[in-house]
Amino acid sequence: HGIQAATTPSILKPESGTTFIAIASGKGGVGKSTVSVNLAVALARAGKKVGLIDADIYGFSVPDMMGIETRPTVVNDRIIPPERFGVKVISMGFFVEDNAPVIWRGPMLGKMLNNFFSDVEWGDLDYLLLDLPPGTGDVALDIHSMLPSCQELIVTTPHATAAFVAARAGAMAIKTNHRLLGIIENMAYFESKVTGEKEYVFGSGGGEKLSEALKTDILAKIPLGQPYANESDFAPSIYRDDHPFETHYNELAARVIE
Ligand code: ADP
Repeated sequence: HGIQAATTPSILKPESGTTFIAIASGKGGVGKSTVSVNLAVALARAGKKVGLIDADIYGFSVPDMMGIETRPTVVNDRIIPPERFGVKVISMGFFVEDNAPVIWRGPMLGKMLNNFFSDVEWGDLDYLLLDLPPGTGDVALDIHSMLPSCQELIVTTPHATAAFVAARAGAMAIKTNHRLLGIIENMAYFESKVTGEKEYVFGSGGGEKLSEALKTDILAKIPLGQPYANESDFAPSIYRDDHPFETHYNELAARVIE
């Protein structure tokens, strides 16, 4: 048990000029993919060339969140990633039919990820973001170990227990030689539109505790939002004029860029 040091060699040597940022979480449902998508779009809006790999192999949700309905095309054996809101995107979701479950194990997984890096025509990128699988299990560890040395963001909710599990994800990042960039506390509070008062519906202090444990900064506290009336999900919408948290994500992008 416990976290092992990375033994698998990196499958991609960081190219000069591209910053790799992995987005991790201790468990699912805390908003890791939401943060990945919105940060990617915010970076693109800040004028950066951005790619996003949905490396949450078994729980891919990025294509859906971004409303991508096309699939990659293949030209001269190279995979051309679809682009949305200025972000080039590759996801496992593009390569399975009708949301079929993914049952590949170790070696296939490595091959798949390898393809995501080496066979995809990313072009010149400033940032390549990776939405990692949640948790600290085998798959998460494998993927961590396969990735090039990169910077890592940890997403948590403010709840103490969530922060406690997130600490393990942080420890895993450090063990696999990923540099911790900081923490994002998502669903940090609910802000009343009427009074502007903040309600800490999921408790508070989790981000601070995690920050202390991992010795890294809290880069953003994203409030709890409500789904748009006519949409099933709240996540993708930074490109809308009325995205409630655009400022938060723009500030996060600015901190990432600095
Ligand atoms: P993860 O990638 O950690 O599993 P997701 O990004 O898929 O989590 O988010 C889980 C659910 O929570 C999604 O339905 C998403 O739209 C919603 N969600 C994420 N962040 C927020 C937020 N700040 N406010 C409200 N709902 C959110």
